[in-house]
Amino acid sequence: MPLRLPTAMIRTQVPLPLRFADGYAADARVYSFDGLVDGREHLAFGLGDRAAASPEDGYASLPLIRPHSECLTGDVFGSQRCDCGPQLREAVERIADVGGYLLYLRQEGRGIGLYAKLDAYGLQDTGLDTYEANVALGHGEDERSYLVAAQMLRALGVSRIDLLSNNPDKARQLRRCGVTVAQQLPTGVHLSAANARYLATKARRGAHTLDLGLPEGRIAPA
Ligand SMILES: [Zn+2]
Repeated sequence: MPLRLPTAMIRTQVPLPLRFADGYAADARVYSFDGLVDGREHLAFGLGDRAAASPEDGYASLPLIRPHSECLTGDVFGSQRCDCGPQLREAVERIADVGGYLLYLRQEGRGIGLYAKLDAYGLQDTGLDTYEANVALGHGEDERSYLVAAQMLRALGVSRIDLLSNNPDKARQLRRCGVTVAQQLPTGVHLSAANARYLATKARRGAHTLDLGLPEGRIAPA
């Protein structure tokens, strides 16, 4: 039985040409919303054929959807403690190629906030993993909710999607909110010396589908 989803509405939509540090450029249409349940300023970026105003007769293919949780340190400053920046860059290009939406969710640090995320980094440097550090700070292992993502999709008129994600929890939560996930497509692996431990933890603890080239790194989709 799907959750009853409170209605959200599109508040504004404006064209936003994007250009990344490596020179990659894409046209986007950025949407803001009224009625999102947590009151935060989440954004949707229409890319590819969805960067244009919606056509009268609909679209040829299902939209590719990437819910991306905000990571100020990774998305903006290129932090190598995580893989958020390269994942965001990859997602924009893959969505622009086929048409769809990047949902930029303002839930920093698995939902615990920016300062707490930095506190958790400090604990990780003493030997805890990313999940243990959040719990040690009195938070859940992962406090992210995809309810607002489902609200945004409905406001955009989207009920069936292809999902770009390695995280089985995203598909599960979206399905519970009544979104039909036709296929789940994995993102690439953005491995570096600085984030190897973080990615291994995500694969082990979060059942993410990441092939890190480690014996225990490959975990089948749930
Ligand atoms: Zn990050």
